[in-house]
Order: sequence, then C-alpha cells, then structure tokens
Amino acid sequence: MFFTSLDKAVRETCGSSRKIKEKRPVFGGDINEAYSVTLDDGTVLFLKTNEPGSASFFEAEAEGLEAIRRTGAVSVPEILALGTDKDVSFLLMEFISGGQKIKDYWEVFAAELAAMHSAETPGYYGFREDNWIGARKQVNTPHDSWIPFFRDCRLQPQLEAAQKYFSPEDRKKAGNLLSRLDRFLTEPDRPALLHGDLWSGNMITGNDGKGWLIDPAVYYGHPEADLAMTELFGGFPARFYEAYREAGKQEPGYKDRRDLYNLYHLLNHLNLFGSGYLGAVLRILNRYAG
Ligand code: ADP
Repeated sequence: MFFTSLDKAVRETCGSSRKIKEKRPVFGGDINEAYSVTLDDGTVLFLKTNEPGSASFFEAEAEGLEAIRRTGAVSVPEILALGTDKDVSFLLMEFISGGQKIKDYWEVFAAELAAMHSAETPGYYGFREDNWIGARKQVNTPHDSWIPFFRDCRLQPQLEAAQKYFSPEDRKKAGNLLSRLDRFLTEPDRPALLHGDLWSGNMITGNDGKGWLIDPAVYYGHPEADLAMTELFGGFPARFYEAYREAGKQEPGYKDRRDLYNLYHLLNHLNLFGSGYLGAVLRILNRYAG
C-alpha cells in the first residue's frame, strides 16, 4: 500500500492509535538511511528512507521480497508500507531481530535456497519489470532462453557502461565474449526465481535462528548465478555448498561458469565504485575471451 505520510502508514498497518515513539539509525547499508522504529506499544519496525525520487527503488525492493515470500521457501521480512513523507520516500517492514543461529543454520539455508530455486515460475527469463542492482538499473526484458538473456540484459549493458575503463583491446575481448557466450554457459532446465544479489550482507538471522533474505534484485534465471554470487565477496561456509549440492540444484561444470556470472556483479561494481574493480574484471575477460 502506498501512503503519503509515515504516521498514517503506521496507523493503518499497526492500529489506529499507534504512534512512533523512537527512531534509531541502523548502520550497515550503503544506499539508504535505515532505522529501527519503536511504536508506543513496544512494536519494533524497520524503516528505510531515501530521497523522494527513490520511491520506485523501494517499490522494486518490496516486489522482490514479495516474489520470494510467495515461493514459501525462504523467510523474508513482511512489507508493511511504502510511501512518501515530506522530503523522503520510505519503505516500512518487519524488523528482523537476529536470534541465536540454529545448529544446522547453513544446511537449512542451503535447502531453503534450493527450494526457492525449484519453485514454480512463469517460464521466461527476466522479470515483469526492470529493478535495481545496487544503485544501478537492472534490465529484465523477458527472454525465452537464458544465455541470450544473460548476454543482452546482464553483461551487455554493464560492458557498454564500462567502455571508458577499457583499452581498444579490452573492448574487442568484450565483444568476443558476448558473441561466444554459448561456448561457456549452459541453458538450465527451466527458469528459477533468483535473489539476484546474494552476498552475505543480504542474508540476516531471524529470531527463529534461520537465515532470512533481504535486499533482493530478483529475476528468473539460472540458479548458478545466485550460487556464484555467494562466492564473490568472501563466500559462505563449505557446509552450505555441500548441502546445496546435496539438494541437487548444482550442475556439473558450475565452477567453470562461476566467474562469468560474477563478471556481471564485478562490472556493476566497476560502474558504481570505479577502477578498483577493473583488475578483477579484466582477469575474467582475459580468461574467457583472451
Ligand atoms: P541498503 O538498502 O542501504 O543497502 P540494507 O537493506 O542493507 O540497506 O539495510 C541496512 C542495515 O539494516 C543492514 O545492516 C541490514 O542488515 C539491516 N536490515 C535490513 N533489513 C532489515 C530488517 N528487516 N530488520 C532488521 N535489520 C535489517
């Protein structure tokens, strides 16, 4: 539901006499302002705010969380309200309080992720609308096949935006890679719902002691793209990967494709944060198209 005042959103979603008593900053995000909001009855909620123009960003985040929630496979915070209030847009959701991790935390999370990757999808690659990957637009134009989707909607737009970092030789390699992607990638049996931005910071522990997903950049794609991203910034513990393999969602040869999937995220980081990511991008370009 879209509201034009935060107080009204609180009243309509939490009770007509509820009021915000306290708002405390939560640190750790890199795009939005985040707060824990305590109501007069002690209820704690999670609030994100940004400039008014970010309403579409929050709509996409809410829609992504809702798509994951609908699979019934992995927990996500419940969205309470979206809206604008004076000089900000906001997203109000359930506060994930961070309990004690259950004993088989990583095994359970791997099984739940595999279940999400096995959930019914509409049958195309992409999503019904574009969304965001970090602060950059993520193109989700529906495609019938995975490899053309990954080429046209993932690598190509990021490579184009990164042209200024590339030498003429690098540009040639990028072109070669795009024209030869089917030599390296494989088509999955069918599209799977992906979180889309699955690094460890986008998984938090709920008070049920299990891993909950936040901040998605969802689309229908190859599950390997999610798995690859878990390995990009530090990786998850080995028992997560064993349990995911046991759940039967990992195909042979995944390790040969992993870095190509992560090239998308590294290019995104290059385009967002600058040349610190160029070396990693060029290593992958050279490996696949050198
Ligand atoms: P950003 O959109 O700026 O990247 P995040 O979604 O990463 O912000 O959130 C900022 C911080 O708040 C992170 O430390 C994250 O773990 C935490 N967080 C995110 N969603 C919730 C939630 N629903 N409940 C409690 N903490 C949350």
